[in-house]
Amino acid sequence: METDRIFEEFPAPSYRGAQEQALRDIKAAFDDGNDVVLVRAPTGSGKSLLARAIAGCAEKVDEVAPSEAASAYYTTPQVSQLDDVEGDDLLQDLSIIRGKNNYNCILPGETETPVDQAPCVRESGYDCSIQHRCPYFSDRAIASNRSIAAMTLAYFMQTAGSEVFRKRDVVVVDEAHGLAEWAEMYATVELSPETVPMWDDLKVPDVDGDVERAARFADSLQGTATRRKDDLLVETELTAEQAKERDRLQELISELGWFVKDYRDRDSATEWVVDQPDGEGSPANVKPMNPEKYLSHTVWERGNKFALLSATMLDKDAFCRGVGLDPSRVTLVDVPHTFPVENRPLYDLTQGKMTFEHRDETIPKLARTIVQLMQRHPDEKGLVHCHSYAIQDRLREHLRDLGVGDRLRTHGKDDRDAELDVWKARSDPELFLSVKMEEALDLEGDLCRWQVLCKAPYLNTGDSRVAHRLEQGQWAWYYRAALRTVIQACGRVVRSPDDKGHTYVADSSLLDLFERARTDMPDWFAAQVDRMSEPTLPELSAREALAGMNGARANPSSSFSSQSGGGDDDGDDGDDGGYSRGRRRSRKQGSEMADVWNHD
Ligand code: SF4
Repeated sequence: METDRIFEEFPAPSYRGAQEQALRDIKAAFDDGNDVVLVRAPTGSGKSLLARAIAGCAEKVDEVAPSEAASAYYTTPQVSQLDDVEGDDLLQDLSIIRGKNNYNCILPGETETPVDQAPCVRESGYDCSIQHRCPYFSDRAIASNRSIAAMTLAYFMQTAGSEVFRKRDVVVVDEAHGLAEWAEMYATVELSPETVPMWDDLKVPDVDGDVERAARFADSLQGTATRRKDDLLVETELTAEQAKERDRLQELISELGWFVKDYRDRDSATEWVVDQPDGEGSPANVKPMNPEKYLSHTVWERGNKFALLSATMLDKDAFCRGVGLDPSRVTLVDVPHTFPVENRPLYDLTQGKMTFEHRDETIPKLARTIVQLMQRHPDEKGLVHCHSYAIQDRLREHLRDLGVGDRLRTHGKDDRDAELDVWKARSDPELFLSVKMEEALDLEGDLCRWQVLCKAPYLNTGDSRVAHRLEQGQWAWYYRAALRTVIQACGRVVRSPDDKGHTYVADSSLLDLFERARTDMPDWFAAQVDRMSEPTLPELSAREALAGMNGARANPSSSFSSQSGGGDDDGDDGDDGGYSRGRRRSRKQGSEMADVWNHD
């Protein structure tokens, strides 16, 4: 790695805020011999530009022996982050490659067919005469040859071991705070009708909490899946559905094989847990407690030097432990927040607790407070972080009863991105009742001026992995995870030095969280908490709350017309909100956090 190049590789014509100092600190950290540098860079620090400068320091192909690693990878778990990179004029030399189902085949008659279902995938030995022009294979060839290949973390992990995307000199992971959780999610073996093609023919035993039984079942399922795949492989031509099934079976076989092998390995440090809440015959998840081994192969062996960037890597040693890094080989570079603290105010509007047993009391009070906030911001768009669809549903009902339904927009699990796009495009000051949108959302300026945090975003204690950690006393980890989400959420509405966004805290458990996790707060967030004040709100008036709307909609109930999933009662803390198993979803399906896994 040639860190002397870091300043010339910075892609913007001039520095903003603390960027130049950040580059100096990052350079010094690598020059000190650290293999991994964590860069804690808050919103607006130009994180992607710093990432580009670091990637530019990778050895060039013509500077090293052919056997040595050169060039760089840029990767991020967030599809929206990759989209932002693609749209940024300053980052045009990052060569982006996405999963196969983001591209369509270009053969006559197949132009609506995604590449992962095209003839070259369906037909055995198919030799495509125009592969050199195929959009997927062209992008892949370009990315594999360019000095910075950019891809989602899902694609990056899946290409571990690939000849095309071999080890490089530098790997930059953007939005890296959730790396451990992503690795856990990718390494989870999900057994359900959606993931096991011959599910209906299976006799699924009761494996809840019984890893040995789950391993025996996985062993036998692996055999069944292998036979089924072999049957498909003898076919000369497959339908698109069969091709999909074959690929899924291949993936399932390797997931099951990895679990069984690791579980039976006496030297393996990985602990496994099994969740099957509905017992025999129902879906089950087999999860590793410590995914370090998974990251070692898929990430840490893919580069010589690593830079991990995020606003919310809160505790260096804990982060390192969680992802299998030796903290002594890692340095943290802290980039200061340069947005004025008065532009990102926090307000205490706590209405009580939002835990399941307190909701009946708290939600009606919260709904009334939200109407008063609508009055306080009559012309400005707002966002409510509902935390779960159950809370979203009840809050919507109360707000409708209070007469402000015309100013609301909500989403379900299947239309979250579509409704978000509509809300962002609206000129009316709608209030968006969102679920799990604390990250990967850029709401600069008038896109959103105020937001409400309904509930302390604690992880679901019903998840055996979470329960297991709490049994081991890992409370600091539990509070830190919630704080991280809160800090991410607060950053949604203040995106530039001149931007201003108000955040209202509605759950009294959040105040408790701020106290418990105080030592994990970056200074710039602690400054926000210290300035938190209680605003005076007007007397409740639905008419005033709707004053900024430009007349009634043609169909006032339209914002409630697509509530697929809106009625889910997830009951308690935590809800996957569309996040779980993001790996199975494609960008075309609109998942914010996922990408596909087919890469060959
Ligand atoms: S390589 Fe495959 S996806 Fe690409 S044009 Fe040929 S058949 Fe279609």
